[in-house]
Amino acid sequence: MSAHHPVILPDGHATLGVMGGGQLGRMFVHAAQQMGYRTAVLEPDPASPAGLVAHEHVRTGYEDVIGLTALANVAAAITTEFENVSAASLRQLAAHRPVAPAGDAVAVCQDRAAEKAHFVASGVPCAPHARIESDADLAAVDVSTLLPGILKTSRMGYDGKGQRRVADAAELARAWSDLGRVPCLLEKMLPLAAELSVIVARGADGCCVHLPVQRNLHRDGILAVTTVPAEGIPAATQDAAIASAGRIAAELAYVGVLCIEFFVLADGSLVANEMAPRPHNSGHHSIDSCDVSQFDLQVRTLAGLPLVQPRLHSPTVMLNLLGDLWWDAAGRERTPDWAGVLALPGTHLHLYGKAEVRRGRKMGHLTVTAATPEAARALALQVAAVLGFEPF
Ligand code: ATP
Ligand code: MG
Repeated sequence: MSAHHPVILPDGHATLGVMGGGQLGRMFVHAAQQMGYRTAVLEPDPASPAGLVAHEHVRTGYEDVIGLTALANVAAAITTEFENVSAASLRQLAAHRPVAPAGDAVAVCQDRAAEKAHFVASGVPCAPHARIESDADLAAVDVSTLLPGILKTSRMGYDGKGQRRVADAAELARAWSDLGRVPCLLEKMLPLAAELSVIVARGADGCCVHLPVQRNLHRDGILAVTTVPAEGIPAATQDAAIASAGRIAAELAYVGVLCIEFFVLADGSLVANEMAPRPHNSGHHSIDSCDVSQFDLQVRTLAGLPLVQPRLHSPTVMLNLLGDLWWDAAGRERTPDWAGVLALPGTHLHLYGKAEVRRGRKMGHLTVTAATPEAARALALQVAAVLGFEPF
């Protein structure tokens, strides 16, 4: 390990810190606690999923100097659970403690244009695109190559928020004005045959391991279903995705868990979509389906512990549980039939402890594990029927 990233052993006192209190932070905290670490979360929300379960909850804003100092005082090393934590905050923390991933790497992931430039520099293709930051950029758009397209805000987008599909130049101009004329990226709309993601974990010594390739189904721009193994995807395509993800991480000198989302196009070619400098929703299955989860990997990379290649021990399907499931078809509020799904074999229910239910809000996920991919899929469809989750 490098001098900047010492080994932190769970000695009963060592505390691992995380910026952000959402469900990803909560699952990081659970993994760290299982290994005997104390945990600290910096999060302003008094009732956040991670704050509720951590040993220490620093209740300030993500850029509050006093809060950041308190976190650095209590935690031996610090990671993040969301990519929009400011580079200045990570730099302040890094002046005192090891921080993984580093602020510079997170900054690349915060900006779609920088992210795409990094893919290209790593030898990984991405969608044809153009920056839209001024009326001149708008006028200069190469309509024949980029439209129809998707206009995405360069920063702060997630779950399909900050995106508009545009068919022609007039729609593009309207969409940019709708999005408040903030810096955007226009991407060509690609013919998607499938969506994949690869989660890698890279240590300070350059060792890199990966979770099995995940096949993802999105609905309305939000992840709905993840299937592993990635059925219907040729082994050569999966290997290429893993190799690309490894190059993208190495080129960033990345330390931590990194997820790369890929598109498989109608002609079978592979294109990188975006990356997240943290565990990813599509890797949640690994808690139940792999011998080492993405959160275990996050703990190991942060603590400078050895990385081993995770092994998928059970074919799996993960269903995202959005708040919509808390209403029936007639619009009446209900509690989903948890007892009904838990009566099925191989179901693993994860609820994030969010007090307020909203449509489109990620309330939890449910992982199904089984002996074969066919059995996992059949079971997941049974679960879907019980919950009123649209079949897939
Ligand atoms: P998140 O961060 O939650 O993954 P996001 O809001 O950053 O999502 P993207 O991953 O960029 O959004 O896009 C969301 C979804 O929209 C993709 O998973 C894909 O289904 C579709 N999509 C995005 N870009 C394109 C494209 N260029 N061509 C076709 N479909 C696309
Ligand atoms: Mg995405």
